[in-house]
Amino acid sequence: MAPRKFFVGGNWKCNGAGDDVKKIVTVLNDAEAPRAPSVKVVVSPPFVFLQQVKGLLRPDFAVAAQNCWVRKGDAFTGEISAEMLVNLQVPWVILGHSERRALLSDQMISLSGKFPRKIVHNLTFVADKVAYALSQGLKVIACIGETLEQREAGTTMEVVAAQTKAIAEKVSDWTNVMLAYESVWAIGTGKVASPAQAEEVHDGLRKWLNTNVTPAVAESIRIIYGGSVNGANCKELAAQPDLDGFLVGGASLKPEFVDIVKSATVKSSSA
Ligand code: PEP
Repeated sequence: MAPRKFFVGGNWKCNGAGDDVKKIVTVLNDAEAPRAPSVKVVVSPPFVFLQQVKGLLRPDFAVAAQNCWVRKGDAFTGEISAEMLVNLQVPWVILGHSERRALLSDQMISLSGKFPRKIVHNLTFVADKVAYALSQGLKVIACIGETLEQREAGTTMEVVAAQTKAIAEKVSDWTNVMLAYESVWAIGTGKVASPAQAEEVHDGLRKWLNTNVTPAVAESIRIIYGGSVNGANCKELAAQPDLDGFLVGGASLKPEFVDIVKSATVKSSSA
């Protein structure tokens, strides 16, 4: 089986006002980053900048949306459908980011009837989004991860397995799915998971996929890590055998994102 290609995603979240977009893209375009085939780089600006970033960005980097609606567009004010992203030739979408799971609509809506009415478990809602986005031809970065309380209660593996199971119940072809393990307590807090903590979960996820999906999916799927990754901690994390890249928030707005991209060379040199 071909080695898993290192992946670095930059989640700009709700940032990019004024000249920011041009400045960030200029840094990326000028960077001497390792080229394909050693790393895939995807940046995820807010929806309104997707087209602009896509137009300005170097051709070896791609863009992702930060979310999309759970099914075909209709009377859902403020939402963006998977079809629209496909029309704009946006290849990737991040789904189930913890900020959406915890703060926004991804935990409150269900699919009953024409309009969402019933409150259902957010795992199902995110899994439905993943399945729908895939059905439209998007590639999905599906985010999973435990809260601090869940980690302290010793239920990390249980939580991420349940999140992955919800997706597995809706998805049969995993070719275009990537899992982003993002320990919620590490996102935007400056508290990064130790390489051993990250590896333990990535390894556990691969074992879960091996048993519950297929050995081939367990071997081929990329599992990336997110949570306060920066230019200083990325190399040690990248060296973990089951860690296939990063989803980066805060540092993706800064020049150090380029250093994170370059951490891919840790893998190539150990291959
Ligand atoms: C994220 O938003 O996915 C993330 C990991 O953020 P940060 O890198 O800022 O912790």
